[in-house]
Amino acid sequence: MTEKQKRFADEYLIDLNATAAFKTHKFKYIDDPLEIIVNSIAVLIGDYSYVRKQACILLLKALLTDKFYHFLLEDKSLYPISRDDSRVVKWANNILSAGKCERCGNAEDLEAHHIVKWSDYPAGRLDEKNGMCLCLKCHTEEHKYDQSYHLMRGKLKRRKQKIKTNT
Ligand SMILES: [Zn+2]
Repeated sequence: MTEKQKRFADEYLIDLNATAAFKTHKFKYIDDPLEIIVNSIAVLIGDYSYVRKQACILLLKALLTDKFYHFLLEDKSLYPISRDDSRVVKWANNILSAGKCERCGNAEDLEAHHIVKWSDYPAGRLDEKNGMCLCLKCHTEEHKYDQSYHLMRGKLKRRKQKIKTNT
């Protein structure tokens, strides 16, 4: 977190009383939501497994308002906001150097997949450990429950048609 974010976080958590916010979210059985929020942020920033990061993202989404959640995690000075950012291109090339799909072994149509979603976890956009080399088919499957699924399905369909007309 930047100094500015830290200050905002402190003020938000004191002024708006996270405990009260927490209780309205039906998590009444947990005593200290502030501790959970701070721990969740630490897990997101630290070197933890991506399953834990996913769990913390879910917790933070439940505990914080949308606006604050985004403020906390989105820092344009720290993280790329465009996939054309040269740092993202470099990240993707590095992931793609695996040379084959890490799910099915296919060596065609490889794409760099963010394990914890781009939109959920800006700090993971350039993290090598947050990447997987997947073929277009497996990548599409990986996003089955995301909003982007229909877009990826379309891409896969067009790719299949292209192969058909080429042969
Ligand atoms: Zn595959």
